[in-house]
Amino acid sequence: MRESDFIETYLKVDEDGDFVVNSLPCPFLGSENHCTIYDQRPSDCRRFPYTDEDVIIKRRQLTLKNSTFCPITYYVLEGLLAAEKKL
Ligand code: SF4
Repeated sequence: MRESDFIETYLKVDEDGDFVVNSLPCPFLGSENHCTIYDQRPSDCRRFPYTDEDVIIKRRQLTLKNSTFCPITYYVLEGLLAAEKKL
């Protein structure tokens, strides 16, 4: 599938200007909650929740949003705040 066809078929631009899937749940979520394109999943899916990248600091609004539904993001954020208090 051409990239432009993939974008037109499956993606939209959200309020932050990022490409996101145009339907929820993700159209690639298969039975038993398995990703049907796991080996070719998008970069954001591979990288989520960005806890080993500077994204977690540089995109604070995204990190805060992710911490509302992703436990590891919440705990990493909590740890960073605790470490900062010790400085
Ligand atoms: S890993 Fe990404 S592409 Fe796969 S089901 Fe989840 S959100 Fe969709």
